[in-house]
Amino acid sequence: MTAESAHRLPEWGSALVVVAHPDDESFGLGGVLDTLVRSGTQVHVLCLTAGEASTHGSSPDLAQVRAAELDLAAAALGVRSTRLLHHPDGGLDERPREIEADVAAVVRELRPEGLVVFGAGNGVTGHPDHEAATQAALRVAASEGLPALEWCLPEEVAAMLNEEYGAAFAGFPAVDLPIVLTVDRGRQRTAVAAHASQAVPGSVLWRRLDLLGDHEYLRLSLPL
Ligand SMILES: [Zn+2]
Repeated sequence: MTAESAHRLPEWGSALVVVAHPDDESFGLGGVLDTLVRSGTQVHVLCLTAGEASTHGSSPDLAQVRAAELDLAAAALGVRSTRLLHHPDGGLDERPREIEADVAAVVRELRPEGLVVFGAGNGVTGHPDHEAATQAALRVAASEGLPALEWCLPEEVAAMLNEEYGAAFAGFPAVDLPIVLTVDRGRQRTAVAAHASQAVPGSVLWRRLDLLGDHEYLRLSLPL
């Protein structure tokens, strides 16, 4: 990798996004996925849970509602395919081997050129499911010899969110996040709106989008 390419989004023909919950692909990664799609990358999403443990949403069958929301959001972002698995929401860190095997099976089937995940360290938000999904994906990336693009927050944004919301976001200094994208949030906002059960007013999501403005910050890890 040259110094210059370290600062650009990789030009992949296809990418597999590995996330824990329906809405992670839009609330977190929407701006990045839209940019990848616009640059010609075929984006596929693997979501490991149906998000049934969310504190938002009063439907008796929240899993079904959220699965449908994922498909709508993915269509708004131009995602090629979505796969939703039914590991327990809130329990991914208890089954690392199972989710790794599932990620590996999809990678072998789709043969993406790279993976896209929430940043390792604490899964960006501090949710153990996010970190478990990321760690499983990174293990598969390493074993399959694939690069992985990690979506992260700059430290000043994380610090502000933690102060204002008592949250546990992890932030990184600019030097550790060499890829800085200028994004158009139009499709991301449409995708977010598709997650009607979750995109509630007052959510930290909105403040995070405000603080990030039209930028997203990433790092790329390459196979050894
Ligand atoms: Zn999530």
